[in-house]
Amino acid sequence: MSQLAEESKMDLPHKNDITKQQEQQQEPQEQEQEQQQQQQQKESAGSSNSNGTYAAPAAIHPIKRSKLMSTPSQLNLSSGTPLQTRAASPLILRAPIDSDGLSWPSRGARSRIDQTPEEASQREKRISDAVKIILEELGEDTSREGLVETPERYARAMLYFTKGYEENIRDVIKRAVFEEDHDEMVIVRDIEIYSLCEHHLVPFFGKAHIAYIPNKRVLGLSKLARLAEMYSRRFQVQERLTKQIAMALSEILKPRGVAVVIEATHMCMVSRGVQKTGSSTTTSCMLGCFRDQQKTREEFLTLLGRK
Ligand SMILES: [Zn+2]
Repeated sequence: MSQLAEESKMDLPHKNDITKQQEQQQEPQEQEQEQQQQQQQKESAGSSNSNGTYAAPAAIHPIKRSKLMSTPSQLNLSSGTPLQTRAASPLILRAPIDSDGLSWPSRGARSRIDQTPEEASQREKRISDAVKIILEELGEDTSREGLVETPERYARAMLYFTKGYEENIRDVIKRAVFEEDHDEMVIVRDIEIYSLCEHHLVPFFGKAHIAYIPNKRVLGLSKLARLAEMYSRRFQVQERLTKQIAMALSEILKPRGVAVVIEATHMCMVSRGVQKTGSSTTTSCMLGCFRDQQKTREEFLTLLGRK
């Protein structure tokens, strides 16, 4: 079998299975050889992708959500991960907190955190080169005065807009969890969020409202906003952003309940297509007693001024 065919089989595990079935008549020896070769390829692919501390390539391949979710043990995430954008039952929720400092299994984010200053400037250069191509393809003259430094500016801006990839919950929270005998609702309203729609790479922005009912532990109030900031400075969909904030808070405090509501305007929606300039999107995620008890939920919505 040719090298090319071998490789294409590696990329398409499903086809690989079919081929294997068809090759049942093959000499057992030949099959064994083939499996060995595949194993070697897998191993070499693994070491080139990892620095020894990161997960195997199978776990960080950004293939399909369904595929990622089908290997929870590799990702150390349960079925209630933020990969699901629909709210799951609190019973199966597990925190979107991982052990190695990344809060989201994103390919490339690890290298961004670990980079040296030199690697960082190389990264910035690669991004701005790519932006230059985009501008030229759009019909612009990148040598004209107004655009000369735009690619570099854009590269720096994008790195800032996605700086949430370089943060993790532990560092954000630090020592701001306190034991406190308080069991009334805590609400922080109108937290400004600026995020990027992962489908169109344009901004969506608005307000987040975060509430929880403590169970002997409270979090420094400013940390609620920091949590929202960390998750919004990534490529997002609003539903997932909402849920990630709620689940992180739930994991950190183990409170009686958590509620997160986000109201946002999406540039991809208001500036093209249907052009509903005034439209905004509201998403919510309710966990624990906010989910189970209508009275609690109503109290929250009343305090938000939504009822
Ligand atoms: Zn969009």
